[in-house]
Parts: sequence; structure tokens; C-alpha cells
Amino acid sequence: MPTEPLAILQQTFGYPNFRGLQQEIIQEIMSGGDALVLMPTGGGKSICYQIPAIARPGTGVVISPLIALMQDQVEALRQLGVKAAFLNSSLDLQDQKATESAFSKGELDLLYVAPERLNTERFLKLLLEVRISLFAIDEAHCVSQWGHDFRSHYLELSLLHERFPEIPRLALTATADLKTQEEIIRRLGLQKARVFQGSFDRPNIRYRIAPKQNARHQLLKFLTHEHPGDSGIVYCLSRRKVEETADFLKAQGLTALPYHAGLPAEDRQHHQRRFLIEEGVIIVATIAFGMGIDKPNVRFVAHLDLPRSPEAYYQETGRAGRDGEAANAFMVYGLQDVVTLSQMVEASEAEEQHKRLERQRLDAMLGLCETISCRRQVLLRYFDQAAPDYCANCDNCQTPPVTWNATEAARKALSCCYRTHQRFGAHHLIDILLGKTQERLERYGHQHLSTFGIGRDLSEKTWRSVFRQLITHRYLEVDQAQHGALKLTETCRQILRGEKELLLRWEDDQGETRPGASTKRWANRPFIASEKPLWSALRELRKKLAEEQGVPPYIIFQDSVLIEMLERKPKTLGDFALLSGVGEKKLLRYGKPFLRIILEHERTD
Ligand code: ADP
Ligand code: ZN
Repeated sequence: MPTEPLAILQQTFGYPNFRGLQQEIIQEIMSGGDALVLMPTGGGKSICYQIPAIARPGTGVVISPLIALMQDQVEALRQLGVKAAFLNSSLDLQDQKATESAFSKGELDLLYVAPERLNTERFLKLLLEVRISLFAIDEAHCVSQWGHDFRSHYLELSLLHERFPEIPRLALTATADLKTQEEIIRRLGLQKARVFQGSFDRPNIRYRIAPKQNARHQLLKFLTHEHPGDSGIVYCLSRRKVEETADFLKAQGLTALPYHAGLPAEDRQHHQRRFLIEEGVIIVATIAFGMGIDKPNVRFVAHLDLPRSPEAYYQETGRAGRDGEAANAFMVYGLQDVVTLSQMVEASEAEEQHKRLERQRLDAMLGLCETISCRRQVLLRYFDQAAPDYCANCDNCQTPPVTWNATEAARKALSCCYRTHQRFGAHHLIDILLGKTQERLERYGHQHLSTFGIGRDLSEKTWRSVFRQLITHRYLEVDQAQHGALKLTETCRQILRGEKELLLRWEDDQGETRPGASTKRWANRPFIASEKPLWSALRELRKKLAEEQGVPPYIIFQDSVLIEMLERKPKTLGDFALLSGVGEKKLLRYGKPFLRIILEHERTD
């Protein structure tokens, strides 16, 4: 095995170049320094510690909180010919002893351990005997007590620099915010570490947010038109909706599995495993699903309900496209989402200060939904990251939204709310505006109001969109004490008095992006047409090889490598070796069978 970082990258991993900050980070560790690495999911963090661990004498010790993930990472490294192993509670005693023995003899390049194991006498003794090349602390934000992934054992990791001050350490996380960063530095004693902050942009993810019409059918259309045979995640807010949506998709002939905290643990585990191992599995889940899902080829994340904050949206959509290939983040949202979430925030038992924060986050999330500028820009700026005005890979860039002057409509809606004493929800108000003759209206005598029927010039759909936007722009607010009744806010006076014009998004689309609307790389990157026979044949072979070894297919080759095979059609082992992601070991093991398939299809084409 080579010992120089670039040679390891090329020969062992099969990648031609380092990406982004990788080279600088690796240099820092090679020269004995510490590093804090902040990079988004899919940014290529693993290589930053794997390569120096291989290059430096001794074994690299990786602390990782997720058992399932450890196993995959170790398997992936073994496929490359790297000597890797893990120690966690899933091992039986015999395997544990064998791993410890290999470790103590200095036979391993990398050892993954669970954090709770580190601070045991048994393991500390081993650490003192063995030559260690570096410590890598993965998911370093788990040390933050205020974050949602807090692990108490991470607090003990401060012992690393106390007991092994001369061994380089890297802490890695995909969490961007400053508070967490400071906490990581303080708790892990990384004051001298160089901080490497990558861009949090995920350029391969296409963001799309569409008004909700018939959510299920919008989802089905999205899945069948754009993602036949792909794996992905569909997020819903409630367990019941998860079950219903999974059933609906199953009835449509798709492989959809539910996942939520109310399911028995075995079912959850089974569904997660199938999602990892099989291809084309759709997981329908509450937010309980996600942490520790390291599947690189999640091709889409769809939201049928609005996440509470841009942080949640970024994290959940971020599970798509870790392999760097094109992926879709698709969401539908509507008036009811806005009302429900506002109610949830108001009804929560939290302290006022906390509530205020929640409200701000929800407002930012709604702002992201309603924006008529680039979604990526809004998202990145929310995280204080620079972003250009135009990304070419979100719905707003691809199909610029049309706005309309909704001042008159807004005035009608607001005065209807006022004349009914701010005691009714949007549904009722819309019925009045549309002049529907209904018992419910008549009970309150609302058919006699001056606003009765004054909104017949617009459709019900448009009125819903008007009300939704009036709430998200804070001209109306949801009254918690009155079961979702809408109240006027201070700001709406300007509109009622005619002092302010209101431009709103005009919605006549179903959230489809116009194809070929732009020329940038991601915009034109096609999603693989599943009907291509060579693509299916390559996937079949990969699946067969994976099954023989009992590993997930992406451990054999990631989608990106199969896509390159499809595009470049290598004819010799020499050509095959040039594919990005084909190192020496994989060339030897898999080159011939894949070439055979490619050549067979050449002939029949
Ligand atoms: P993270 O841990 O930051 O989420 P990974 O380390 O899993 O990201 O890397 C994400 C993807 O990028 C993986 O598929 C990995 O193989 C690929 N990758 C990483 N570095 C490179 C590189 N220099 N060239 C090509 N692909 C890379
Ligand atoms: Zn954009």
C-alpha cells in the first residue's frame, strides 16, 4: 500500500483528485496538527482521516456514535484493501478478542470504536500499548449538550488530549452553527486546532417547494415520473400519515416501508436494513428516521409536511445525494401546514424565550417556502453563508415564479376577517368570500355580510394561497385560544388603508420544473433513465455481488461509478481503471465481470 496521501487517494480509493479542503486538512494532520472539520454531509469528510491514518505509522482510532454506520464504513474500507475493524456492542466476545489482538499487534490501519468503549480500563490499556496515528472524532457535535444528538459519552473524549497530547486529533461534523463549534472546541480541548470550514452548499440537490393540491398524487407523480426504481425518503409529520402514505404507495405497486417511533423495534430495524441493502426502497417516515442513515444513493427526499425550521429542512433534505450525484428535495405545503405548525408552536409548554426562537425559525422556514428568489440562496444565507443570486438548480431559478398584485384580494380577505370579529379560520372565510350558500354560514348570518360573495372573481385554490401568504407574511396570525381562528396584525393596517401594495406568488403550477431551463452542470444532469438496459444490467450485477458477500450494493460500487460506466463505456481493464472510484483492489475484484456486461451490451446495441 502506498504511503503518500495523493498516491493513496489515486491507487487505493481510485479518485483522481482531492476535493475542496481535503488536501489541506490531510496536510495539517500529516504534520502532527489538530483540526476541526466542518463540512456538509457528502462533503467528503471520511477521507480526511482515513488517508492520514493509512499514511502515518500506527493505527488511526475513529470514534463514531453509530453502530450500523461503523460496520458499513469498515466494510467499504476492506473492499479497498484497507485493514480496518470495529469494536462495539454488536460483536461477540470472540470477534472482539480477535480485533483487540490485531489492534495490539499493530496490524490495523483503522479501528472504529463506540465512544462508551474508549473510557474503559481495558481499552485505555490497549491504547497505551499500541502506536496510534491519529484520533478522529466523527459526528463531533454529539458533544453539544444543547444539540439534539447529544451523547453523554462524548464528554469523556476530553481524555484524549489529556492522556495523549502528542497524537493528532480531528473532530468532524456537518453542523454549521457557531455555538456548537465553540462547544466542540471547548469540550474536546481543541483550542489549538485549525478550523476548516467548507461551504455548506449541496449543489447536487435540487430544491423544489410546491403548493399542496393533492399531496398524494403530487408525490406519486413525482416518484413515477422522476424516480422510478430509486431509493428515497418521504417525510410526514404524524405516525398515522406515515402509515397511510406507505399503504397508498404500496397499493400503487411501489416498495414503500413505514418507519416511526410507534413501530416495534424489530420492524424498524428490518425496514432500515432493507432500505440500506435493497435497491428502490422508499422509506416513509417521521423525523425519527435519519440519524445514522449513511446510504449514499438516496436519490430523493420528499416532504409531505412542512419541517419546523430551515435547520430541520436542511438536515432532512441533506440525506439525499451523499454520493454527489443529482438528487431531488421535493416538498409540498399548504395553508393547513402553516396553521398547524403555528398552533404547535403557540401551544407548546416551552418558555416564552424558547417559543420566540421557534416562531422565528418557523417564520424563516415559511419565508423559504414563499420566496420568489433562489431557494439555495435563502437557505445558505440563513446559515450566514455567502450565496449567489442564481443557482440554476432550484425551482425558482429554473422557472421564475410569477407574481401578481394581490392588494385588492388581500383587502377583501382582511376585511372579511374583521367583519366576522376575527373568530373564524381560513376555510370559513373563503366560503364567505366565494358566497357559498351553506348552513354553517347561515347559522352565523354570514350570508348578509358585505363581504359575502365579493371574492367570486378568484378560485378557491387562489384564495387558499392568498390566506397562506397573508399568514406567512404576518398580516394575519393564527389565534391559538380560538382553535385556529385568524386575527389581524398591526402590519395589515397599511394594506387596509391602501398604503401598501402586496405582490404574491401566483400558483398555477404543480411544482414541476421546466426541463432544460438552464445550462449549469446540475441543472442538466439527467436522472438515470431506469429503462436503459445497460443501467439495469449493471445494477443487477452489483446486486448479485453484494448479495454474495452480504453487503449493501453501494459498498461494491457507488451509483456514480455505474453512471461513469454508462457514460464512458470502458472497453479494457485499462479504461476501467480510469473510472473515478475504481482503485487497485476493486479493479482486480470487479473489473472483469463489469466489463463483460458492458461489452455484451455494446454488441446488442
Ligand atoms: P461525509 O462523511 O462528509 O458525509 P463522505 O466521506 O461519505 O462524506 O464522502 C461523500 C462521497 O464523496 C463519498 O461517496 C466519497 O466516496 C466521495 N468522495 C470523497 N472524496 C472524494 C474525492 N476526492 N473524489 C471523488 N469522490 C470523493
Ligand atoms: Zn436557485
